[in-house]
Parts: sequence; C-alpha cells; structure tokens
Amino acid sequence: MKLVLLGPPGAGKGTQAANLAKEYKIPAISTGHIIRTAISEKTPVGKIAEEFIKRGELVPDDTVVELVKVRLAEDDCKNGYILDGFPRTLAQAEIMDETSIGVDLVLDIDVPDEKLVERLSGRRECKKCGAAYHVLYNPTKNGETCDKCGGELVMRSDDVPEVILKRLEVYHKQTEPLKEYYTKQGKLTSIQGQKDLAETTRMVLDAVKEAGAKL
Ligand code: AMP
Repeated sequence: MKLVLLGPPGAGKGTQAANLAKEYKIPAISTGHIIRTAISEKTPVGKIAEEFIKRGELVPDDTVVELVKVRLAEDDCKNGYILDGFPRTLAQAEIMDETSIGVDLVLDIDVPDEKLVERLSGRRECKKCGAAYHVLYNPTKNGETCDKCGGELVMRSDDVPEVILKRLEVYHKQTEPLKEYYTKQGKLTSIQGQKDLAETTRMVLDAVKEAGAKL
C-alpha cells in the first residue's frame, strides 16, 4: 500500500504513521525528519532547508522531491510506504502523479487550529529516530529518553508560538488544497483527529483498512 498522510502540523501524522507502519509492515517516511537530519548533518540540502524551516515556511519543491525520490528507491519501500508530510503542495502532488512515486490512498487527519497550538507546544521528538511524543498525551516511559532507541528527546525549534502560527497559515494556503485534488481522484478519506490518542488511532486503522480493502 502506498499511503499519504495529510493534515495540519500537530494533527498526529507522525504518531499514526508509526502505528500504520507496524500494522502494515511498510516504512513510515517523514520528510520533516529527513530534512532535520540533513540540517543537523550540515549537508548541502540541509543548508538550503534550514532557513525555510526556521521561518515555518516550506522547503522548495525540487529539493524535497529529490529527497523523497532517493528515499523511495531504497529496498524497504518496494512493498509500499507511508508518506508523512509529503506532498505538501499541489506542485509536489503533480510531480508524484507524473513520475513513478505512486499514491493509492490519502488519509486526512483533521484537527481545529486551537487544538493544534496546544498540542505542538507539548510535543517532543527523538533526535535520533524521529519518534514523536507529547509531554501530556503521549509521554515516554521515563519522561526523558526515547522508548524505541533511547535517543535524546528534544523540542523542535519550529514548535514555538510564532513559527507555529506561520506553519498553520502555510498549511491552509499551500497544503489544504490537496484535499480537493485527491477527492477528485477518489483517493481521499478524512477522519476527525481531535479525540484522545487511542480513539484517533482506532479511527485511523479502521479508515485505512476500509479504504485499503477497496483498492
Ligand atoms: P514536519 O516535521 O512534517 O512538520 O515538517 C517540518 C518542516 O519541514 C516544515 O515546516 C517544512 O519547512 C519542511 N517540510 C517537510 N516536508 C515538506 C514538504 N513536503 N515540502 C516542503 N517542506 C517540507
């Protein structure tokens, strides 16, 4: 299955991508995590991306598309993948349709803006593997290190109020039009993601199972 997770920052795409990856035994690929790794490793792409991420803006399409193509060419993607955070613009979606990057199903996790601001400020990410946590709603076992790999937990520099507001603005302007794009292709399924984590996880798994069965 080739699945895209759509939704605003803080909707829980990373957490749900990890659940789905376990369920379907396919990799979850987060463009945000790939870009943050490139920034911390100071690669040429990382140097281009850093200024955009800091401001809460999107990294240029050609840069992100190239990163995704390289990642999807890896062996573990041959039975499918879950894309978390890609595509994020109409241009990226069109490139996916024109090239070999396929999409079977798009799951949109919808959450109102007020809820997102609260969620993003309590969010923590593993510096090493990118696993997503929340200090109140999804804490790690010892509250300090990643449950999966023992990595250090950090607050993302773009999870601060000014940048959060910019990212929400960018989402509504540049990413939300993708809902219409994929509705027209008959690929979009939407769920409401503002309930608690267990309830959202159940809805996500049910929605993907139901839509996946029709493929
Ligand atoms: P995320 O971890 O998905 O919230 O992404 C963090 C940041 O990475 C975004 O605010 C963008 O600056 C950048 N980014 C991630 N995915 C994309 C994408 N598909 N297109 C452009 N920029 C992206």
